[in-house]
Amino acid sequence: MSTPTTLYIDGAWEAAVAGGTREIRCPADGSLVAEVSEATAADTERAIAAARRAFDTGPWRATTAPERGELLHRVADLLTERAEDFALAESRDTGKRLVESRIDMDDCIACFRWYAKLAGVDAGRVVDAGSSDVLSRVVHEPVGVCGLISPWNYPLLQAVWKVAPCLAAGNTFVLKPSELTPHTAVLLMEVLTDAGVPAGVANLVLGAGPEAGAPLSSHPDVDMVSFTGGLATGRVIAASAAATVKKVALELGGKNPNVIFADADFDAAVDNALNGAFVHSGQVCSAGARLLVEESIHDRFVDELVRRAQQIRLGGPWDESAETGPLISAAHRDKVTAYVEKAVEEGAVVRCGGEWGTGELEAGFYYLPTVLDDVRRGSSAVVEEAFGPVVTVETFSTEDEAVEIANDTFYGLAGAVWSQDAGKAQRVANQLRHGTIWINDYHPYLPQAEWGGYGQSGFGRELGLAGLAEYQESKHIYQNL
Ligand code: NAD
Repeated sequence: MSTPTTLYIDGAWEAAVAGGTREIRCPADGSLVAEVSEATAADTERAIAAARRAFDTGPWRATTAPERGELLHRVADLLTERAEDFALAESRDTGKRLVESRIDMDDCIACFRWYAKLAGVDAGRVVDAGSSDVLSRVVHEPVGVCGLISPWNYPLLQAVWKVAPCLAAGNTFVLKPSELTPHTAVLLMEVLTDAGVPAGVANLVLGAGPEAGAPLSSHPDVDMVSFTGGLATGRVIAASAAATVKKVALELGGKNPNVIFADADFDAAVDNALNGAFVHSGQVCSAGARLLVEESIHDRFVDELVRRAQQIRLGGPWDESAETGPLISAAHRDKVTAYVEKAVEEGAVVRCGGEWGTGELEAGFYYLPTVLDDVRRGSSAVVEEAFGPVVTVETFSTEDEAVEIANDTFYGLAGAVWSQDAGKAQRVANQLRHGTIWINDYHPYLPQAEWGGYGQSGFGRELGLAGLAEYQESKHIYQNL
């Protein structure tokens, strides 16, 4: 793979002026993917200036919402044509199975199509002012220049959840993907340009967060920052954005409860407990990392879960028999290792896993699917996000207790309820303080439904109708006729 230049500013590729370089290595086997030069804050400031000019003076402001909808459909067409290139690049950077990267591409295309359609129908509204002498309209306008910062677990998809509504609403942007997984963002800029996005509207900087990313929250010419990543970084970004009172959207971590009642379909619940916890090695913000199992089925459920977890085949992107892949880096594997060690010190029992991959897996950053039983309420294992293939098991005896334990987290991103009693499942779902609740399923989401967190999982919403509104200002125009 060729070395990508660092910056896409004002419709041209450039090299960074004085940034360092970073080796991108495939987490599955440590092979060198590319050496990337990284942007400095000064480079990012030039990208912000280009986005500002394109917003204030370029042809983009004159586009109509239906025209932008057409443009997004063209982006979706080009992504469809180049889907395999993207999937290969994503799997090299993240180590995730190629089949998962292909699914991510389908989701990216669906997201562009959704906002393509929504752009064309969102026309604001006329308000009844109570007088025939008054015309009162609420119109939607773009926020302006947006800083978009995305993580490494779903590098393209998390960027697309921002880029698609941002463009649909008529904004300009500077995107900074994770420094660990830059390649699909580079390809995305090529596609946006080929689809006809004018110079300066879409800009890209590659590089480390505190250098290349920081101006996107601090700079006065950025009107909004939308961030997906960890809680600690989210706090830094929100604090930095406060100085210029810019609009902020934060999609942060989760510690998501998966509540299994005794009357659940047992096999489906086990299947989805495994899928919820271990897909993409648990590096999913909505991973079902906390199993709450009704006391009466605990032993049977955990025995089966452990039996199946031990059979999960780990492997790299090109191994078609693999069911899950590596962690993103050695440093991240050390973090997961330390999380499990601390859990054990606090009394958790490792029922399976708790070890690195061996043999052929030693070349990559593999951690075995891990089940931690007997975890205590309030212990670090059930409070902190592991962001790895680790699931904790707690028990409950009543519906009220299940709700209480499930809500006992400062996060609030997602959760699930398993029961064949539809009334009970709905009652519990209504009481859970999390942004997405699945009943008798785990992980599906829809581009047309909102995604986001309660509590310290963040604020603002992506996807759905609110995902477009996030990138809009509302203006009330009151005319005395
Ligand atoms: P991270 O916070 O380390 O990094 C995210 C992005 O922020 C990267 O691009 C990074 O370079 C950038 N960054 C870091 N410091 C910055 C700074 N000071 N200014 C500007 N940018 C900065 O997160 P990560 O490790 O890449 O991702 C994992 C986290 O993301 C997990 O906590 C996960 O739960 C969360 N996540 C949440 C969602 C969601 O929808 N809520 C989706 C995916 C991931």
